[in-house]
Amino acid sequence: MKKLLLLLPLLLLLKAQAQDAKAIHFKAILVDTHNDALSNELITKLDLSKRQTIGNLDLPRAKEGGLDVQVFSIWCGAEYGKGTAFNFANREIDSLYALIKRNPGKMVLARNAAEVKKAVAKGEFVAMIGVEGGHMIEERMDYIDALAKRGMRYLTLTWNNSTSWSTSAADETHHRDSLVKAGHIGLSDYGKQIVRHLNDLGVMVDVSHVGEQTFYDVIATSTKPVIASHSCAYALDPNQRNMKDDQLKALAKNGGVVFVNFYSGFVDSTYAHKESRFLRAHHAELDSLKEVYHDADLAKIRLNAMHKEESDQVRPPLSQLIKHIDYIAKLIGVDHVGIGSDFDGAESYPLGMDDVTDYPKITEELLKLNYSEADIDKILGGNFMRVLKANTGK
Ligand SMILES: [Zn+2]
Repeated sequence: MKKLLLLLPLLLLLKAQAQDAKAIHFKAILVDTHNDALSNELITKLDLSKRQTIGNLDLPRAKEGGLDVQVFSIWCGAEYGKGTAFNFANREIDSLYALIKRNPGKMVLARNAAEVKKAVAKGEFVAMIGVEGGHMIEERMDYIDALAKRGMRYLTLTWNNSTSWSTSAADETHHRDSLVKAGHIGLSDYGKQIVRHLNDLGVMVDVSHVGEQTFYDVIATSTKPVIASHSCAYALDPNQRNMKDDQLKALAKNGGVVFVNFYSGFVDSTYAHKESRFLRAHHAELDSLKEVYHDADLAKIRLNAMHKEESDQVRPPLSQLIKHIDYIAKLIGVDHVGIGSDFDGAESYPLGMDDVTDYPKITEELLKLNYSEADIDKILGGNFMRVLKANTGK
């Protein structure tokens, strides 16, 4: 009994902390800058207005997790090129428009910070559009204009594939020789024109996926703060998709923000090795799942679910994700970090981070690390609102 009495103050403190976390979390505007549900929706025909048992996001779960603003990624693979990629982008935007139309008063498209604030105040779920991969504009400025008109608020200059005007992290890392032979690494003159055009239109330039040379060319060219919509810290996980300390410092100097990706492979440097061992052990099953889904990521997600106990052992702890947020905040300041989960775009996330209902855990963990409410507000959404306004002007 005595022991229990001694424990009581600690238990009360923990309870108060949990209540604080909840209050802070649901009061803040929570923005996630990267989710791939729309690309999956085209494949799986999910209705995101209803609760789903697969995927990481739908409207009911977004509400539970306190998610106010989701930037949906418009994406197609490198196999789409001239004549097909722009069409595919438009089909995905059509499907977002249709989702919004099916949910009047509940969901709305926003194009600037003022529209976001207005919709959030009304309790509406805000959708925004980010286009992931410069190949989707098919080297045409008028296609940029058309996508901006439909609501595009960031363009990720490359996906894993380079374009004729910008080189990707994957190519700069693994195919440097062929880039040198082709005579261009980084942003070409046309690429610089594109960056300036995006600046003029108030479309944020997204440097996730781009190579280091492209990154520094963008920093030297952009007249507005840029974003990395879904990247982590290279110092904690030396993956080509993550940002080195010098890049992070340059991004902060530009006034930009890096939104931390939840994918286990970008969070934890030991993940790739553990995952390939797991996939090797189940390669026959994986092959037949690929036949069913025609999509490697969806097949891996299904395989993980079928062997949950085993695949959970491959996942990093939640603390490893929080380390990235904390590392970046300490290195370049709390004004330059946010959340860009990559939910619905990867096969594995840290333990406890299963879907959008788990965002409140981030607030809890940041409170434990003594982040103030004002700082947490910035990380959850304030920094996004600032950088959006700096680009769109309102
Ligand atoms: Zn991506």
